[in-house]
Amino acid sequence: MKLKRVLQYAHELMRETLKDGDIAIDATCGNGHDTLFLSQLIGKTGHVYAYDIQEQAIKNTSERLNENNLHTRATLFQESHDMIEATIPREHLEKLQGAIFNLGYLPGSDKSIVTTPEQTTESVQTILNFLQPSGLVVLVVYYGHPGGEKEKHALLQYVERLDQKSFNVLQYGFINQKNSPPFIVAIEKKKAH
Ligand code: SAM
Repeated sequence: MKLKRVLQYAHELMRETLKDGDIAIDATCGNGHDTLFLSQLIGKTGHVYAYDIQEQAIKNTSERLNENNLHTRATLFQESHDMIEATIPREHLEKLQGAIFNLGYLPGSDKSIVTTPEQTTESVQTILNFLQPSGLVVLVVYYGHPGGEKEKHALLQYVERLDQKSFNVLQYGFINQKNSPPFIVAIEKKKAH
C-alpha cells in the first residue's frame, strides 16, 4: 500500500521533526512503543518525558526502554499529562520540539481508563505554549470506545480554531474503513516572521 498507515505516518512526522539533542514528550506512554521511538530519535543528548496514569503502563514502558538500553534517555511519570508544566524542568520545557499523544485506552488493559476531552485539550494547549517554532504535536485519535466520540469532537473543535498565522493543523486518516478507524491530528508551530 502506498498510502501510509496512521501509526506509520505519525512516526514519520516525528522522525522529520526530532533530531539529536531535542526534548520531546510522550503524553500517553501506554506500552512504551512511542517512548522508545522518541528516545531513539533524540539521541544521546536529548531527553523524553513520558506520562501515564497507570502503574502498569509505566512498568511496561520502563521495561521496554531497559530492554533497548535506552532508559537514561527518558524520564517516566505516573501522572496525568496535565502535570507537564509542573514536572518538566523549565530549561527543557522551553526547548520542547515535539510531542505525541495516543488517545483512548491501553490495549490489553482496563478499557474504562481513557483519556478525557478536558485533560487532552488542556495539555495540548500547554504544550503549544512551550513548543519551539517548527515543533510538532501529533495526536493519534482512537474514538471507538465509550466517551471517544466526545473527546474527538472536543479536540477537533479546539484545533480547528487554532490561529492559522501561528499553527498549521493537519488531519490524516482513512475515511472508508469500518469500526471508527484512528486518525491523526498534527499541529505544527509556525516560525515567527
Ligand atoms: N502510546 C501507547 C503505546 O505505545 O502503547 C498507547 C497509549 S494508549 C492508546 C492510551 C494511554 O493513555 C493509556 O495507557 C492510558 O492509561 C493513558 N492515559 C489516560 N489518561 C491519561 C492522562 N490524563 N495522562 C496520561 N496518560 C493517560
